[in-house]
Amino acid sequence: MSADDTYPAYVVEEKGKPARLRRLTDADLPEGDVTVDVAYSSLNFKDGLAVTGKGPIARRLPMVCGIDLAGTVSASGSPQWKPGDEVVLTGWGLSETHPGGFTTRQRVRGEWLVARPDALTAEQSMAIGTAGLTAMLCVLELEGSGMTPGQGPVLVTGASGGVGSVAVAVLAKLGYEVVAATGRPESRAYLGDLGASSFVDRAELSEPGRPLQKERWAHAVDTVGSTTLVSVLSQIGYRGSVAACGLAGGNDLPATVLPFILRGVSLLGVDSVQCPTDVRAEAWKRLGADLPQDLLAQLTTARGFADIPRLAEDILAGRTRGRVVIDIN
Ligand code: NDP
Repeated sequence: MSADDTYPAYVVEEKGKPARLRRLTDADLPEGDVTVDVAYSSLNFKDGLAVTGKGPIARRLPMVCGIDLAGTVSASGSPQWKPGDEVVLTGWGLSETHPGGFTTRQRVRGEWLVARPDALTAEQSMAIGTAGLTAMLCVLELEGSGMTPGQGPVLVTGASGGVGSVAVAVLAKLGYEVVAATGRPESRAYLGDLGASSFVDRAELSEPGRPLQKERWAHAVDTVGSTTLVSVLSQIGYRGSVAACGLAGGNDLPATVLPFILRGVSLLGVDSVQCPTDVRAEAWKRLGADLPQDLLAQLTTARGFADIPRLAEDILAGRTRGRVVIDIN
């Protein structure tokens, strides 16, 4: 691609309005010291909000959508990177404060990039994307809090989603007994193939109930928030922990302190956007080792650039399953 070429991008231009397909040139590239030819991106819940205009993701306009990208460095003023390097970028405010990955060329800051993990192709790295990285960050937090196999079942809420599916696959591979909470009975066979050994109807967790209930789970990954997270906390066993990363069911938390002060339960917050580089590197390394590639293929759907607007509607409506990787070219 030459510097005079135009290239397509999904751009939010007006607050509350859907992103439009625009053609950009190098003159439109933002500040940064590394230019990347983007090969793949991915679809996350946040991309759904940004592309449809249904959530206030972009903090300045116009803004290129897409919170993830993977590709090849085409120009670099950073000592860390040279043309030809294969890189991955998730988070760091892409599509919020800095133009993102739903385009074929982007300029970013070198310190945001990680080298594509040896064990993964560019396409696989975006099949994982922010959602998969977040699932692994949850596992790392739970391990840091003392989680080991054999302590009892580990619950994953929002299990058919991107974060949930990767969490199920990784935890099962690591030898945990994984229970998948899902609102989609038709997903049970899929989740069983990823390694879930049993299932809970998500409706069972959507009412908070008593603040201390029967101890059902040793630990949990929660992608739903709100009353679901409250129920999960009230059902965690003594000194268990919950990694909370999502708000698919709401951003409130109408809980009591009883699980914390009477059962020593830990609530562990997980953020992937500003997560420090060393933790990201560890998470990518672990994804290369602990997410079986056949399971990654099973939980991934590949789609093209033109499908982005429809996919954005689909993920918000709960019609996508697992991860969607976007082939940009
Ligand atoms: P998905 O849309 O792929 O998955 C969300 C899943 O949650 C759905 O598949 C569904 O699972 C379940 N769900 C949806 N709506 C509800 C509801 N109203 N009540 C209960 N369950 C519901 O999204 P992602 O996996 O990409 O993201 C999951 C959450 O994590 C989102 O809130 C996202 O914003 C957040 N997130 C946070 C990150 C961070 O850095 N902290 C990074 C990435 C994501 P099922 O059909 O099986 O019930």
